[in-house]
Amino acid sequence: MGLRRLIAIVLCLCVTATAETLDSAVEKKQRAEWCEALGKRLKSVDARLCQSLPFRAGTLRSVQGRPLMALEVAPAAGKNAARPVRILLAGGLHGDELTSISIVFCWLAFLETPAARAHHWYIAPLVNPDGLFARPSRRTNSNGVDLNRNFPTPDWADKAQDYWQRRTQKDPRRFPGKTAMSEPETRWLTEAIEAFKPDVIVSVHAPYGILDYDGASPPPPRRLGLLNLKPLGVYPGSLGNYGGVFKDIPVITIELANAGTMPRKEEQHQMWNDMLDWIDARLVQPRHTGKSPGAQRN
Ligand SMILES: [Zn+2]
Repeated sequence: MGLRRLIAIVLCLCVTATAETLDSAVEKKQRAEWCEALGKRLKSVDARLCQSLPFRAGTLRSVQGRPLMALEVAPAAGKNAARPVRILLAGGLHGDELTSISIVFCWLAFLETPAARAHHWYIAPLVNPDGLFARPSRRTNSNGVDLNRNFPTPDWADKAQDYWQRRTQKDPRRFPGKTAMSEPETRWLTEAIEAFKPDVIVSVHAPYGILDYDGASPPPPRRLGLLNLKPLGVYPGSLGNYGGVFKDIPVITIELANAGTMPRKEEQHQMWNDMLDWIDARLVQPRHTGKSPGAQRN
């Protein structure tokens, strides 16, 4: 190997290492600022726990330039008897539903349990940061768009505007946007769904105190904690419609009972346990054994 080539390789390795160090320093700072701001705004968010987890910003930012952060947790290595289920958990699509963000952070404390580590998680606790940090917090993003009416469902072009005008009387809290996926926050979550390919989406809202479900199969959970199943139907541009009807990914929508007051600790835990029990019962599939169907029957 010539000297010049050797120098070029060493230089390249150094530059790469420096870029990685810089990258992680920038990421660390961004994460620290994001967690600190959240801890100040939401008293039930533990900023230190948040900072200890490898949340990463996507390439897209909110309309006001805030990072859109998510945490991916791969299943624990080991001889899992079953294929890990891919779970996308999202909170804070509506910025004024404070508990929908806080509870996702509270559930992060359970991620290290064996039941949770058997699965693969993609967790986006705050899809609409501009809505949360507005004073007062607001449902829509800073373009005044209801993100949960902005997903690219096949009926969007025909029905979203009409629904907003006729059925909601142009309610500004439910404006679906000028076009489907016009908002960076919606694009970010849609791209995450495309890339992560979840087996189930869990979307947290408040304050209707029920459990909603969209998807042809499997059968829905009948209750999570104190929340009973009460399907609300779908709307043009909603995540339930996009995931559950269009993409054929079951969508559990948790509507907590109060947007400002958290459920009690035991209730938070019960909802989490019920959710994992349903996932284990309905979505876990054995790994492919390599045997022929005939051999399996014997
Ligand atoms: Zn909501």
